Amino acid sequence: MAPLLEVRDLKKYFPTKKGMLHAVDGVSFSLEQGKTLGVVGESGCGKSTLGRVVLHLLENTDGMIRYKGRDITRVSKKELIALRKEMQIIFQDPYASLDPRMTIAQIIAEPMQIDKEQEKSKIDERVYELMDTVGLARRLYNSYPHELDGGRRQRIGIARALALNPQFIVCDEPVSALDVSIQAQILNLMLDLQEQLGLTYIFITHDLSVVRYISDSILVMYLGQVVEHCPSKELFDFPMHPYTKALLSAVPVADVHHKKERILLKGELTSPINPKPGCRFAARCIYAKDICHQEEPKLQEVRDSHQVACHFVREINQNI
Ligand code: SF4
Repeated sequence: MAPLLEVRDLKKYFPTKKGMLHAVDGVSFSLEQGKTLGVVGESGCGKSTLGRVVLHLLENTDGMIRYKGRDITRVSKKELIALRKEMQIIFQDPYASLDPRMTIAQIIAEPMQIDKEQEKSKIDERVYELMDTVGLARRLYNSYPHELDGGRRQRIGIARALALNPQFIVCDEPVSALDVSIQAQILNLMLDLQEQLGLTYIFITHDLSVVRYISDSILVMYLGQVVEHCPSKELFDFPMHPYTKALLSAVPVADVHHKKERILLKGELTSPINPKPGCRFAARCIYAKDICHQEEPKLQEVRDSHQVACHFVREINQNI
């Protein structure tokens, strides 16, 4: 089956006073319909920028984004508007992403009000339907966001994203501002919606426990580049890149008898502005050798569906 989304060598650079900031630098992946790709990495690694560039909310510097077989970086403005209905985003912070002057009904209805093809007389009915879908009580129709808790606010964000019947949603840290108990409710809602509506997600987060729960495959980013990409279970069972190993070592384990050694990353973070040649992780990597400072490691398949960008992946992981 052809992938719903195919991204090849995607780049997004921002000019700064000190030079060019390489926020996304040569990212490639494909994503099948109905699946979830988790994108993880420290803050500033370019994951949120990647999400926005994939939706073409930010123009790419280079590379290709193919959605349903069409390169969306080359379509006309009119075609892009039509495509945008299918491609939506759920934002990180439900507190900040909702207009406090609008009622819940107005917020959910807004995309339909703007869309010229919507039958305006049916919008109210559709708002109620969407509130039911995301588990918001109908009595909250005329409430304002400040009257609700974080979980309900994020349900509004989800209802709004669903308003135009999208097929693909970028979820940018959608649960990180929420309490843990509420996080689980929102994640379960998103999984239910995926099953009911056949949605495809890119799920961006810095929280590895969350990404494990929701993703089919995971892409680990470091300073604008992909360092590891594989199915979700494989990443947690056989992490191979030194950066992924360090990230996973910081995830708490529920079993008190299980002792896990935390890998602390030392060394300076390489600047993403005009980055030097070589591996961007080299300054913090305990395995770095001369070549790591000279040549950029390419993302290569080291096991079935498991790609890693490291010159010494086989030496570091002798069990491959
Ligand atoms: Fe470490 Fe070198 Fe591998 Fe980069 S390429 S992760 S510096 S061993």
